[in-house]
Amino acid sequence: MKYPQITNIINGEQATGNNGSLEVESPIDGSKISEVILSNNADVDLAVKAAEAAQPGWANTPIKERVQVFFKYKQLLEANMEELTNIVSEENGKTFGEAKAEVAKSSELTEFACSMPQLVSGELLEVSKGVECRIERYPVGVVASITPFNFPNMVPNWTIPNALVLGNTMVLKPSELVPISANRIADLLKEAGLPNGVLNVVHGSQESVEAICDHPDIDAVTFVGSTRVAKIVYKRATSNLKRALALGGAKNHLIVLPDANVEMTASNVAASMSGCAGQRCMAASAMVGVGEVDHIINQLCKDAKEIIPGKNLGAIISAKAKERIENYITEAEAEGAKVLVDGRNFVVEGKENGYYVGPTIIDYVKPEMRIAKEEVFGPVLSIMRSDDLDEAIAIENSSNYGNAAAVFTQSGGLARYVAERASAGMIGVNIGVPVPREPFSFGGWNESRFGVGDITGKSSIEFWTVSKKMTTKWNPESRTNWMS
Ligand code: NAD
Repeated sequence: MKYPQITNIINGEQATGNNGSLEVESPIDGSKISEVILSNNADVDLAVKAAEAAQPGWANTPIKERVQVFFKYKQLLEANMEELTNIVSEENGKTFGEAKAEVAKSSELTEFACSMPQLVSGELLEVSKGVECRIERYPVGVVASITPFNFPNMVPNWTIPNALVLGNTMVLKPSELVPISANRIADLLKEAGLPNGVLNVVHGSQESVEAICDHPDIDAVTFVGSTRVAKIVYKRATSNLKRALALGGAKNHLIVLPDANVEMTASNVAASMSGCAGQRCMAASAMVGVGEVDHIINQLCKDAKEIIPGKNLGAIISAKAKERIENYITEAEAEGAKVLVDGRNFVVEGKENGYYVGPTIIDYVKPEMRIAKEEVFGPVLSIMRSDDLDEAIAIENSSNYGNAAAVFTQSGGLARYVAERASAGMIGVNIGVPVPREPFSFGGWNESRFGVGDITGKSSIEFWTVSKKMTTKWNPESRTNWMS
């Protein structure tokens, strides 16, 4: 095994789990690269106890001191960029370039967290003569963050820097498919000076997540993953009276108008549907062509054919996921859709045991087909045709999801028309992957997010803190009488 066994990290030390173990394989070639221990209720409880014990000391450390750990952590992310990138690529299967962009984004997320002291400096107002009201923010307490397989380094960093700088202590439960990055993150934070117990890592699957949702001493839970599990986690955590935010899956629509710039649109759409092998919640999954857009589709197919698995296209996470994706394509074809570019049955020479699907473009998909409605999570684009813009918007609006939507046109007025009407939390105009960069926050609508607020950026401050409103009369002798 290339990497030693991945254990829990509790109170700064490695800890074994009590629920067996799982092989960690690299989707690139199917080889076993590590093994991860799995946790049960008792293991989760140990992690919560460590987080609870560390909480008062960390919360009482002034924010200006807490943030120093994250300045150092950001430097360490950059100094170890190559190693962290290789881990992401090996355990997740994405290309080196994509993995590097992910780690670079973690650095940007940390940079934002380092600005927290400036953002939470408080509010103060003289509300009547001699009487002032001020707001102070306090950490929520012990929080948990449950993360998916598709961004092993970035998604944990959506929550760790902001939550910890704001004084919380955390139990991180990464995806059991990609556990190696999470432990390296914990190592680097320890090296940066994070006190033991402030971040604890518990590995496992369903049982450990349920234990987190049920634990009486966890105050808040964030989840990022599929909508099916997001619903389970959100319901279970909130029914146990925890604050919760659960981000789910996606089905992102790109609306393409005939006047769109051909080269720019084709390359953006191709990159959006195939980047990270389509395994990202911001990937284009459906394109709605309004009127005559064949000239753009032709260029898109040419561009897609330049995207080659094992070269500039990464692997799919597992054999099961590859099979699921290929079944969607086969079913759509059987229902009458036309496969213009076919990525099924792709084998990469020298990596015959890896899991690959080539870019796939399917035209004449109907909105009622399964492939048009469900999240495929692979490098597959379904093209639907509409006669006018309102019909295209209606197709986008009919999705249960609502993470991202984009419009491609050279008309500012039409772009605005779509942007106002799309039912999604993140909108692109001539941008295929409209991920908001810090300080803007990340979060979708509809079944792509359960709970209030976004998970990153300024919006996350509300989630990671509770506020105290203090009213003070500085001159008791004054006649001002305000609800005395
Ligand atoms: P997943 O839902 O299978 O797993 C996510 C987490 O939940 C993992 O830690 C896993 O161990 C745990 N889990 C799995 N099954 C569980 C169950 N039955 N009960 C309790 N916990 C369970 O998701 P995934 O396959 O790892 O990730 C891909 C999904 O994540 C896609 O749907 C993608 O769109 C979504 N995603 C969404 C966003 C967003 O911001 N909205 C970001 C990244 C990924």
